[in-house]
Amino acid sequence: MQVTPHVYVMHIDDDSVYHPGGSNNYFVGDPREEMLLIDTGDQQREWTRSILEYYEHLGRPKIAAILLTHSHQDHIGGLDRIYDVVQAPVRCHPKLVKKLASMVGPDAVVPLKSREMVRTGGDVAVQAIFTPGHEVDHVAFHLRTDHVLFTGDCVLGASSSTVRDLASYMQSLQLLTTYQHDTICPGHGPVVPPPRGAELVRWYMHHREEREQQILEALAKGITGVKEITRHVYPRNLRKGLREGAERNVTTHLAKLVQEGRVTQTPSHYVLQGATRNS
Ligand SMILES: [Zn+2]
Repeated sequence: MQVTPHVYVMHIDDDSVYHPGGSNNYFVGDPREEMLLIDTGDQQREWTRSILEYYEHLGRPKIAAILLTHSHQDHIGGLDRIYDVVQAPVRCHPKLVKKLASMVGPDAVVPLKSREMVRTGGDVAVQAIFTPGHEVDHVAFHLRTDHVLFTGDCVLGASSSTVRDLASYMQSLQLLTTYQHDTICPGHGPVVPPPRGAELVRWYMHHREEREQQILEALAKGITGVKEITRHVYPRNLRKGLREGAERNVTTHLAKLVQEGRVTQTPSHYVLQGATRNS
């Protein structure tokens, strides 16, 4: 489906509880000339086939580069088979080069530079924006002509993202707000068009700040454990699959607060060497 003059989305409903609203791969440029492919989906053959069918539907344009947003399996899993068909240079964050080189060979992978412009058909270019946080090797892309941000898993269309390093994640969100855009093309969930697309990154930042505030309030009340804090700040009827993710999020928030010197961590549990914990 065409999203803007130079953006086409290939949407897959993968039915995963972790990313409501399915997953997306994007073709960017002019199908009559040359295009970029952003992300390659999971390794399931069916998924790869859908991407390649869509590529056929676009008329098998020359692919100028395959761009990867980050190292998670649901984004790089189809790379080897798609590379076999389109034979385009694979471009990614420098920290991801080694892993991808093991999939397609070292000559095929070229690291992106921060803020590099990658040109393609239709006389457009996407700019690489290094955005660590969800993962250390995360890259978002900006297509200035169409006012589009490809946010990978940094900002999603229908849910909040999981985060490894919250301090860098917040800096990455801040950085994204400086790129003019009104449409968000996320790794998962629906494309978010204007006017909401223009506000989504800020809404995400606000959501995180609010969560941090709730955690500080829980700590102030004397609630100290991750499980207890999670129970305090998240809805009680949270689906089972999401509870673990919520606990991870709380842990990430606490790590950031510790890093900033606003919270102190006191280890209070001791376990016998070799014993399994059953909490
Ligand atoms: Zn993902």
